[in-house]
Formats: sequence, C-alpha cells, structure tokens
Amino acid sequence: MTGHRKIIGGFVAGAALGLAIHASGSTQALTGFLDWVVQPVGRLFLRLLFMSVLPLVVSSLILGVSEMGDAARLGRVAVKTLALTVVVTGISVLTGLFAVELLRPGTGFPVDVREALIKSGTLPATPPAAPANAADRLLNLLPQNPFKAAADGDVLGLMFFSLLFGVGILMAGREKTATLLKVFEGIFEASMGFVGLVMKLAPLGVGCLVLNLTARFGYELLAHLLGYAAVVVGALAFHQFVTYSALVQAFGGMSAVDFFRRTREAMITAFGTSSSSVTLPISLKVCEEDLKVPRDVGRFVLTVGASANQNGTALYEGVTALFLAQCFGVDLNLGQKATVLMLAVLGGVGTAGVPGGSLPMLMAILGSIGVPVEGVLLILGIDRFLDMCRTVLNVTGDLLIAVLVGRWEGRARRVQA
Ligand code: ASP
Repeated sequence: MTGHRKIIGGFVAGAALGLAIHASGSTQALTGFLDWVVQPVGRLFLRLLFMSVLPLVVSSLILGVSEMGDAARLGRVAVKTLALTVVVTGISVLTGLFAVELLRPGTGFPVDVREALIKSGTLPATPPAAPANAADRLLNLLPQNPFKAAADGDVLGLMFFSLLFGVGILMAGREKTATLLKVFEGIFEASMGFVGLVMKLAPLGVGCLVLNLTARFGYELLAHLLGYAAVVVGALAFHQFVTYSALVQAFGGMSAVDFFRRTREAMITAFGTSSSSVTLPISLKVCEEDLKVPRDVGRFVLTVGASANQNGTALYEGVTALFLAQCFGVDLNLGQKATVLMLAVLGGVGTAGVPGGSLPMLMAILGSIGVPVEGVLLILGIDRFLDMCRTVLNVTGDLLIAVLVGRWEGRARRVQA
C-alpha cells in the first residue's frame, strides 16, 4: 500500500473505531487507554514534524528566491512571469479566503474537541504579535536578530529574513554564492528526507488522533472536516474553471474549452501524482506540443513555476489557516487576515512541488497568527485528496502563465482548434 493510502486507512480505521467506542459509552479503562496510549502517539508524530519546519522553511524560501533570480538573466520574460505569478496567486488566495469567510466551516466547532486537540499536541502556540500600530506591525515583520527569531518561534520574521537573504545571494552573484546555495540545497534535501521518515508514522499518528477525538466526541468533528474539504474543493474549482478560463480567454488567445482540452494530460498526471515536480516533463511536452508556446518561454516558466507558482497550494493554505482559526475560536483582525494572504502567497513560492510539500509552510503560517499547530493533525487524514486537487491547479496555473507570457511576448504560434 502506498503512503497516502495508509494515511487514509489510518484515518478511516481511527474514525470507525472511535465512533464505535463513542456509541458504546466509554468506560474508565477506555479513557485511560486514550489518555496514556492513543494521545501520546499523536503528540509524538506532531513534535517530530514540527522539528523540520525551521530548516525547511528557511532553505526552501532562500532557494525559491534564488531560482527566480537565476531567471532574472532572462530579463523581460522573468519579470512578466513574476508579475503574473503574484497577481494570479493573489486572486487564488483571495478566492479561498472569501469562500471560507462566507461559509465558515469551522464555526461551531465544539469547545471540548478544541481543548482535547490542544492537549493532544501540547505545543505552545506562538502568541500573535499585538503591536500598537500599523507601523510597528510592519517593523515587527523584520527581526533584528534572525537567530533569536528562530529560537522564539517567530516564523514570520524568519520567512522575511530568508526572503531578503535570498535577494542578498542574488545580488552577490552566482560565482560567490555557489557553495552557500549548495549548503542550502543540502539542508533542504536533508529536511525533506527527515519529513519523509516522519511521515512513515503518519498513518498511526493520524489514526490515533482521529480515534482519540471521535471516541470522545462522535460525529460532530467529522461533519466540520467534511465542510472544510468541500470549501477547499469548491474554491479550487472556482479558480480553475472560472478565473483560469477568464484569463486564458481574455489574454491567452484561446478558448477555455480548448485550453483545458490541450492541458488534460498534465492535469491528470498532476492529480494522480500530487507532485508538480514529477509532472514537469509532461507539462513541458504539453506546453510545447499542444499549447505551442515557444520552447524557451515554456521551459523557463514551467521549471520555475513547478516550485514557485502554486496557486492551488496558496489557496489551500489560506483556507486552512482561516478554517483552523475558526475551529480554535481565534478571532483574526483584518491585519492578521492580510498577513495570512501575504504568507499564503509566499507559501506558494516556498513550497516544494512534492506530495504534502505545503505542510511545513502551513504550520509556519498557523504559528505566526497564533493558531495552535495541532490543528494540522485534524486535517491530515483528508489531506491527500486535497493535495491531488490543489496540484492540478498548481500545474494548470504554470501552463496558463506560459501561454500568457508567450502571447505577451508576441511570439506564441497560432494553435489550431
Ligand atoms: N503537492 C503539491 C505540488 O506538488 C504541493 C503541496 O501543496 O503540498 O504541487
């Protein structure tokens, strides 16, 4: 059985067993079992996962920025790609935030489940910074000491540091920073390896969490989760079929139906693999042969885009952060929602194009708005399906930008309908 099937298996087994225990009325022995065995396993899994966040976020953001800048050599094409990436990703996150605010799938989340969840993780949530005014708020984004920011769990500060450090690397030039970039690549690969190892525990960790919560609280929890999944899928579908369609039709010189017909192969591969990087060879072929985008433009946009343009992931991170804030009763003000928007767009840049690549970034976002990261355990069981869906958008978004940039450059070949 593949990893994600095992996680789904863990979720289903945990939920079924939990519901059965709930229906039978829990006895003292069962409660002891939940407290002493089931709960600690969930905690162990979460702590291990959290351990990888810091090195992963720092290295992936630095590498993400440096990849974009490599591209800077390509001049105009790079600037157009970057501009479109930011605009289209921004639209996708706003779509998600609007949907989750409107439908509020996390509202009414039972208080006792919330408390049990926090207890199951017992990780301290980073308190949201509460600076006096907007100027202080902005200044607080920049840590005076990045090491202190890391030690204090100030992930937002660390993200900005990494971003600026990445820009610094670009300014210094390839020659002088090649070794340093190799080090960050090494840190990134090692962290991903570590996450891969921890994820082997995921079926058990997720199973235990769901068992613990459903045994204590029954169906209500699952209903909220289903509502959340429906909001994510609905918002993703809107972005894919309404926003992308409108953009390709207005600026891509092709009908939406035609665009989706031609990108079908890449979309199916993305759905099946949950990985933009694995789908890259297919996207390159589709881009050149089916969409007739000039090879240099396609190559550039797609290779950078596989890790730096992830509309689906950004949308998902925004929705999940707000959903979990609703579940935990964390009231976010407008400034904090704007922070989520900004971080989700950044998340789209700094997420590796691999299955579950957005998880560390999501934990970082939660930490910086004061939502307990334990919430991640809640959504992990259904994450693989959402991952498949958001990866489709990540890949289609790259192809869309390739078409738009190709046309903007005035070099796109005419496609025959
Ligand atoms: N699986 C996604 C991708 O490869 C990344 C993520 O959202 O986890 O594009």
